[in-house]
Amino acid sequence: SLSEKLESAFKQIKGEGRITELNIAATVKDIRRALVDADVNYKIAKEFTDKIRETALGQKVINAVSPGQLMVKIVKDELVDLMGGTESTFNTKGNPAIILIAGLQGSGKTTFSGKLANFLKTKKGLSPLLVAADIYRPAAIDQLKVLGEQIGIDVYSEPENKDAVAIATNAIKEARSKNKNVLIIDTAGRLAVDEAMMTEVANIKSAVSPNEILFVVDSMTGQDAVNTAKAFNDRLDFSGVVLTKLDGDTRGGAALSIKYTVNKPIKFVSSGEKMDTLDVFYPERMAQRILGMGDITTLVEKAQAQFDEAQAKKLEKKIRKNQFDFEDFKQQLEQIKKMGNIKDLLGMIPGVGKAVKDIDISDDSFKGIEALINSMTPQERNNPDLITASRKARIAKGAGKELTELNAFLKQFEQMKEMMKMMNKMPMGRMGLGRK
Ligand code: GDP
Ligand code: MG
Repeated sequence: SLSEKLESAFKQIKGEGRITELNIAATVKDIRRALVDADVNYKIAKEFTDKIRETALGQKVINAVSPGQLMVKIVKDELVDLMGGTESTFNTKGNPAIILIAGLQGSGKTTFSGKLANFLKTKKGLSPLLVAADIYRPAAIDQLKVLGEQIGIDVYSEPENKDAVAIATNAIKEARSKNKNVLIIDTAGRLAVDEAMMTEVANIKSAVSPNEILFVVDSMTGQDAVNTAKAFNDRLDFSGVVLTKLDGDTRGGAALSIKYTVNKPIKFVSSGEKMDTLDVFYPERMAQRILGMGDITTLVEKAQAQFDEAQAKKLEKKIRKNQFDFEDFKQQLEQIKKMGNIKDLLGMIPGVGKAVKDIDISDDSFKGIEALINSMTPQERNNPDLITASRKARIAKGAGKELTELNAFLKQFEQMKEMMKMMNKMPMGRMGLGRK
């Protein structure tokens, strides 16, 4: 496979095991893709993998470990780091300690409230009081009461009271008189972020000064979870995140995106509807989940998998014959749009990775480049030499670009071809590109 070729080419060139721009490009791309598959926001995944590349470059590869395996370790460490490193704290000081629960409707607030009460009672020896502050749905109070009964924990409610703030402050008195040392306030949510909901929770917050404000989010909502988290954090400045429904087929990427976006620790993860399925959040475990590291070898294989081999072969051949044209370039752009940036892609071409570092092709220029190529006739795409001055004016105009932009691109393209030609002449390039 191309990946094996790359590896052996790399070993022969370097003679020593190091991660280089050359052998890292495909791996980084695959990691990025794996992250996006795991619901990590694309921009975050990209920034993250850029950091990975930086960390990885120059790291020594121990004999028995392939660059791929080393990459996995670097990625895992970085994920753990990004998610806060170690498990975070949970503040239950005070009499009573006050925990405010917020989040969208259906995210799992009420279920989590019950689980948390059960957790604090059985694992921490505290005496919780659950507070039903969801005043909009009559069934909400009953739901909490049923859970409370199940776990033997009292529920405070005022079915006639339509003032959630008053209920919360009354509950503090109730807790003191009944010797409960931790209050868990379950609030109302809406289906989407909504001003009235935010105001209400914010008012409860100022009235009761919670020890912890936990934002509950359904991990199945993937990337939406990030936007919701941001909206709640902007308004409530919450102290931690609870990820629910991890028993579903989510891969947990929301965990990474949320932490990255709002910079608040994930404190609990919840899976299943039973009251004893609450876990303290361990970044290490989540990193393994995101990477799907149950079987490390599969990941290594995945990380080293290459883009379509037939296409790569075709491309190699064209490069070898110095026939790389605009059509090829455009196809590569399509690939790039799907997976990464142009340097990654060029970096996959053996021998090119290092040289491409100095060429200035930014991701932003892609769109312009695509427009320029689209404005060329098929003949022009296949034969760059056809592009004369008069044609240039037409192409630029058709793409809605300045002539200078077209000229800059044509020059870059020439440089690239020149470089490819040089690579073809060098023994190193030949080795990398292989022979028929
Ligand atoms: P709330 O509107 O935020 O209070 O959400 P609920 O606690 O009422 O939960 C909404 C639905 O999701 C209910 O059917 C719960 O049983 C379910 N649910 C809550 N947490 C989990 C979980 O961790 N896993 C699964 N599978 N379902 C959950
Ligand atoms: Mg509820």
